[in-house]
Amino acid sequence: MNNGSSSGLLVMKFGGTSMGSAERMRVAAKICTEQKVQRPVVAVVSAMSGVTDLLLNTLRHAEAADEAGVEANLEKLVSRHAEACKELLKDSQYASALEGVHTLLGDFRRIAHGMRMLGERPPRSVDEGIAIGERCSALLLSHFLEASGVRAQAVNGSDVIVTDAVFGNATPIMEGTRKKAEGVIRPMLNAGVIPIVTGFNGATADGRPTTLGRGGSDFSASILAAALDASELWIWTDVDGIMSADPRSVPDARILDSLTYSEAAELAYNGAKVLHPRTLAPLVERQIPVWSKNSFNLAHPGTKIVSKLEAPPGPRAVTSMANVALISMEPANSAVSSTRLMARALEALADANAEILAFTSSSYRQSFCFLVRKEELSAALEALESDLSLELRHGYLKPIEVDENVGLLAVVGEGMQGTPGLAGRIFSAISAQDVNIIAIAQGSSELTISIVVHRDGLQRAIQAVHKECR
Ligand code: ASP
Ligand code: MG
Repeated sequence: MNNGSSSGLLVMKFGGTSMGSAERMRVAAKICTEQKVQRPVVAVVSAMSGVTDLLLNTLRHAEAADEAGVEANLEKLVSRHAEACKELLKDSQYASALEGVHTLLGDFRRIAHGMRMLGERPPRSVDEGIAIGERCSALLLSHFLEASGVRAQAVNGSDVIVTDAVFGNATPIMEGTRKKAEGVIRPMLNAGVIPIVTGFNGATADGRPTTLGRGGSDFSASILAAALDASELWIWTDVDGIMSADPRSVPDARILDSLTYSEAAELAYNGAKVLHPRTLAPLVERQIPVWSKNSFNLAHPGTKIVSKLEAPPGPRAVTSMANVALISMEPANSAVSSTRLMARALEALADANAEILAFTSSSYRQSFCFLVRKEELSAALEALESDLSLELRHGYLKPIEVDENVGLLAVVGEGMQGTPGLAGRIFSAISAQDVNIIAIAQGSSELTISIVVHRDGLQRAIQAVHKECR
């Protein structure tokens, strides 16, 4: 039934900067056209850069009944897309694409108007509204390709990607998605058409619009690549590939030729802004290789991500996160089971949807601590204080401590496994910079060592570790 990989299907995702202007869309179209000569192609597109933020901001104005704010934003949205339209197309093709943009933004205006009347922003309407950025860019790219003589058709992701009903951060349901992809996308491919699918959005099985979380177009592309059994996924961005560190903190960071799925996922999860953290999971089972490529530098091959590599000993990359907070807890007397306290604390965090980035526990006093994202801190604390209110009130648990002045450094690489002395070198490099290590976590997979340091030492620590591991 699945003829995808035998026909060498290529799925390509174009991010916001790769779709950011008429000029960038021309490049995206050129890439699609060149690849299409060799094999079937599916394109997945982001909204033009900045558009999703603008759409979200418009809905906030609407909720606050700020009519002028809504109108000013709508004007910007119309002119941004109309300008691209004008630079890309002529005559009747221009008129029809422009009409399409007006229709989509008219739908968005109606959604915003509804929110103004309600004085609130229902999550499913937000998801329907903010996906309009992707729908506009899919419309423009498909019209431009058609006008250049390449058959292409815009596809709304909500007609293909089936998700659960977690609005704003939905998870795909692969079986339903596979059926829809076979029904909607496969016939286009068989007819020689390039489907231009909106990234970022999907719908529940009963048709309610959802989105996959900010930056979710990468995830859309990997979901579709898996659903269609593609032979490769190329993710077009504005950097040459995945780097050994963020070049803003480490000037001599270098582009990596290749990485494993696990390494790339760890980097994304620990703050590297290269890929949406959920992107790789759908590809693992079918071992579909991913390339991260730069649409501003077509000569550079980019970084390849595959399931297995001959790992050089030692780490492959370092990454960091500054917007984190460390929550520490400690039983007030030895009669209290700290294991039970930990269980309760973890449960409270799970209920609050706060993700634990690192967790450590040690010492006779049985204190334990975990690192969370700053934006999830207040929900996490609220949940901990309410779930453990009896223990806190009756003095079984010391007051919960929070340190917001910390940063996370993660050292990642499959080659760290079984390399003795590595942790020692990393810690020595950090302490040689006079940076104090507050907490450490390393899973038994030895894929990542997570190190929590004071925020003001984070930069120095990253540079030192990168240099040591080079
Ligand atoms: N446009 C969406 C966002 O800005 C999705 C994406 O670009 O990946 O979050
Ligand atoms: Mg993006």
